[in-house]
Amino acid sequence: MSEVFDICVIGAGPVGATLATTLATAGVRVAVVDAAPLPPMEHPAFDGRAYAIAATSRHLLEAAGVWAGLPQTPGPIRHIRVLDGQPGEPASRLGLDFDSAETGGEPFGWMVEARALRVALNARMASLAHLTVHAPARAEVTRDETGATIRLSTGAEFRAALVVGAEGRNSLLRRQAGIGVTRFDYHQMGIVGAIAHELPHDEVALEQFLPHGPFAQLPMAPTKDHQHVSAIVWTEKRHLAERFLAMPDEAYGREIERRMGSHLGRVTPIGRRWSYPLTAMHAARYADTRLALVGDAAHGIHPIAGQGLNLGFRDVGALAELIIQAVAAGEDPGSPGLLARYQAARRPDALVMLGATHALERLFGNSIPPIRLARRLGLAAVQRMPGLKQFFARRAMGFGSATGGLLEGRGLESVPRQGIG
Ligand SMILES: Cc1cc2nc3c(=O)[nH]c(=O)nc-3n(C[C@H](O)[C@H](O)[C@H](O)COP(=O)(O)OP(=O)(O)OC[C@H]3O[C@@H](n4cnc5c(N)ncnc54)[C@H](O)[C@@H]3O)c2cc1C
Repeated sequence: MSEVFDICVIGAGPVGATLATTLATAGVRVAVVDAAPLPPMEHPAFDGRAYAIAATSRHLLEAAGVWAGLPQTPGPIRHIRVLDGQPGEPASRLGLDFDSAETGGEPFGWMVEARALRVALNARMASLAHLTVHAPARAEVTRDETGATIRLSTGAEFRAALVVGAEGRNSLLRRQAGIGVTRFDYHQMGIVGAIAHELPHDEVALEQFLPHGPFAQLPMAPTKDHQHVSAIVWTEKRHLAERFLAMPDEAYGREIERRMGSHLGRVTPIGRRWSYPLTAMHAARYADTRLALVGDAAHGIHPIAGQGLNLGFRDVGALAELIIQAVAAGEDPGSPGLLARYQAARRPDALVMLGATHALERLFGNSIPPIRLARRLGLAAVQRMPGLKQFFARRAMGFGSATGGLLEGRGLESVPRQGIG
C-alpha cells in the first residue's frame, strides 16, 4: 500500500512552499515535490532580487511559521510616492503620496530578499513533522474521482486527496488537465536588481511612470556592505532593455539616476542584473478533478504594482483555510465542492488585479499630451480624496474583497481545526 497524504503540492516556489508550510503547521499531512534541488535557491551571495511583501502576506507567513525564520530583518515600506514623468525631466509635482500613518501606522509592506524567503521556507519545511519534501524529483500524476496517485522519478509513490499545481507559469499539471490560458505579451522586459545609494531612502517606495514603462525603487534594509540600499524594477522595451543590461556599471547607474531622479544621490548598481520578458496570463479554470492551481500557475500579472506574489499568497490563504476546515471536520479536502468554493473565492480577485495592472500599464504607457494631462490631474484629484486614497492604500497592503483570517493576521486559531493531528 502506498503512503497516503491529504495534499501533494507540486512546486516548492514561494507560493507552493508557503501553502505546504501553512497546511503542515495546522497538522495537515503534506508532500511537496520540486523538479529542482532546493538548497541552491538559498545562494549565499546577495543577488539583488527582492519581493515587496504586502501586509496581508506577512500575516500569512507568520501563521506558517516562516516570517520568524527570515535571516535578515525586512525593510518596511512606510510611504509610497506615485509620479508621472519623463526620463531626465524633473518629475511632475502632480503625484500621489501615501503615508502609512494615515492608515493606522502598519507599513504597507516589507521588502524581502528572494533568497532570504527561500532560506526561511526551506528551514520551515524541514522542521515540520507532517511535511515530506521530494526534491529534485519529477512527478507523474494520475487523477480520478477518488484521489490522485503520484509516482516520482526517484521511485517513490504515494496517494493524495488533492494535488496542487504550484509550478509557476508553465504549469505541467495545468497543461495536462487541458486548462486553457489567455496571454498578453507586453513586448517589454522587467529589469530587476539592487542599487546602493548615497542618501537614505526614508522607507519611501517610488513608482515612477515613464513612457516606455514604469520604474519602481523599493526601499531595502541595509546589507553588511552598504548602508543605503533599494531594489529596482525597471520596465523597458525589449531592445532597449538588452542595451541597458549589457552596459558597464557606471553607465548603467547613470541611466538609473536619469529615470529615478537625484533624491537618493549617487547610485551604484550592486548584485546581479536580472531580466524577465513581461507577459500577463490567466488560466480559464483554477481547478480540475482532484487538482487546484495556485500562484503563477493560475495567473501572471504585470509587475507594475509588485503584486504578483501577493496575489499568489491570497490563493494560499483561501485554499489553506478551506483544506484545514475540511480535514478538521473529517471531510474530503479534494472534493468538487471545495474546489468550486476555492475558484469562486479567487478568480474574481485575480481578474480585478489583472485588469487593474493592465489598465495602469496602458494608461501610463501613453505619452499623448491630453492623456498625460488627464492622468496627472487624476493623480492630484485622488491625492485630495481621503476615502479613495484609503481604498488604494488598503489594496496596496493586500486587503481585497474576500480576505480570510490568515491574511488578516488572526492566525491559524481563526480556522476551525479541532480534530486534526
Ligand atoms: C520582473 C518581475 C518582478 C517581480 N516583482 C515582484 C514583487 O516585487 N512582488 C511580488 O509580489 N511579485 C513580484 N513578481 C512576481 C513573482 O516573482 C511571482 O509571482 C512568483 O515568483 C510566483 O511564485 P510561484 O511559487 O507561483 O512560482 P515560481 O516562483 O515560478 O516557482 C515555481 C516552482 O515550481 C518548480 N517547478 C516548475 N516546474 C515543475 C515541475 N514540472 N515539477 C515540479 N516542480 C516544478 C520550480 O522549480 C519552482 O521552484 C515579479 C515578477 C517579475 C517578472
